[in-house]
Amino acid sequence: MVRVGVFALQGDVSEHVAVLTKLGCEVKYVRNPKDLDGLDRLIIPGGESTVFAKLSHGNNLDKKICERVQSGMPIFGTCAGMILMSKGIVGFPNQPTWGLMDIKVKRNAYGRQLQSSIEDIEVSGIGKMSVAFIRAPIITSIGDGVEILAKDGKNNIILAKEKNMLAGAFHPEITGETRLHEFFLAM
Ligand code: GLN
Repeated sequence: MVRVGVFALQGDVSEHVAVLTKLGCEVKYVRNPKDLDGLDRLIIPGGESTVFAKLSHGNNLDKKICERVQSGMPIFGTCAGMILMSKGIVGFPNQPTWGLMDIKVKRNAYGRQLQSSIEDIEVSGIGKMSVAFIRAPIITSIGDGVEILAKDGKNNIILAKEKNMLAGAFHPEITGETRLHEFFLAM
């Protein structure tokens, strides 16, 4: 059984747990560095990236996550998770990120909570899927090793992969969609 951790200090944890359980994974909540022991993979959900950064730094969880990912553990960040994985946030030069993936992002690129929407997007290699954009970021620039997997209708990059890292601007876990999680589990 694949053991998948879900970063669980804040954010929409239970929705990812539900998808992973449905796909037959053993799921573990990750709140402390020791929770990473024995994990095969990690998901960073949506939530509030400033809170994620602060809380994960307080107990060194950020450092341990970066070490595990740099030594090969696959990671999938959605929305705030993607922001944390980036190398920097346009317009927020002082907000810390984990700098794992060679991408830069823009927070809240689709407006506020009230502008949230469910959209059909086309994912390279998978096809069309309905996903939710909730104060979603976009990827504004990528490095050489980053592969673009989806764009929105305005040509903004919203899903990308680099080595063992997958990052999406949207929520794939609240619309009944499981194919992106399956793609991640196969990475
Ligand atoms: N706008 C949030 C942030 O900047 C992310 C929103 C989300 O994860 N749904 O952290």
